[in-house]
Amino acid sequence: MTTQRRSPYSRPAGGVHTFRILQTAFSVAILLATLFVAFSPTMFSGNWTPFASSFQAAPLTGAVAVPTQGSAVRIGIVSGHWGGENGEDPGAVCPDGVTTEQKVNLTIASLVRQKLEARGFVIDLLQEFDPRLEGYHAAMLLSIHADTCDVIDDQATGFKVAASTYSRDQNLAGRLTACLDDRYASVTGLHLHSGSVTINMTDYHAFSAIDSATTAAIIETGFLNLDHDLLVNHPDVVADGVVSGILCFVNNESVQPTPIPAP
Ligand SMILES: [Zn+2]
Repeated sequence: MTTQRRSPYSRPAGGVHTFRILQTAFSVAILLATLFVAFSPTMFSGNWTPFASSFQAAPLTGAVAVPTQGSAVRIGIVSGHWGGENGEDPGAVCPDGVTTEQKVNLTIASLVRQKLEARGFVIDLLQEFDPRLEGYHAAMLLSIHADTCDVIDDQATGFKVAASTYSRDQNLAGRLTACLDDRYASVTGLHLHSGSVTINMTDYHAFSAIDSATTAAIIETGFLNLDHDLLVNHPDVVADGVVSGILCFVNNESVQPTPIPAP
């Protein structure tokens, strides 16, 4: 940062010189005070905002309380069906017998972990019934799943997001849903298949296990049949969509609430 010199005097007399030193000191003091006020809420909350200068913060009421490790924000990512409850659980299985939801989820979840760790976040990559889910405390938790590989109809395409109804702050839960809905759609080009959010999503088992202060959601990244190409051949794009939604939430980027579809 440079300081602008406003005085036309190149060699001021003693009195003027002293005045200018005082003036400069005063200006620096004001600058420091301004910087302190501007940055201190972020510093005190531990809210790590890597893109603070490029994204507008949401109103304070929507600010994310972020448990940190050092200065980094902790985020939990559940890789759907990974580990299973009582042994191996493939989740949805495709007719080829090779493509399973569990593998697709793990590829995506691992990429999400890499991309977020590269941005300085602390990521816990969790199994479906990971013992760490009990009382899990973090800035947020996202469980990554994919929809059935069955041939249903030409409407069986798109993604779904459901926030935890157990989350203590439903305003934040709504923000997480809106961020994922908006950013995932714009990055992947998939549309929201909101009409088919099921009780399996809203009452997802991990939601009641984790600390209710941890805002949580589950995403079905697409249908394994009609969205097969995106999910299987372009997991990087899927992961980018998820990461973009997560960044929207933890950075308090502005986002419109998801419109409620007509019945
Ligand atoms: Zn699943």
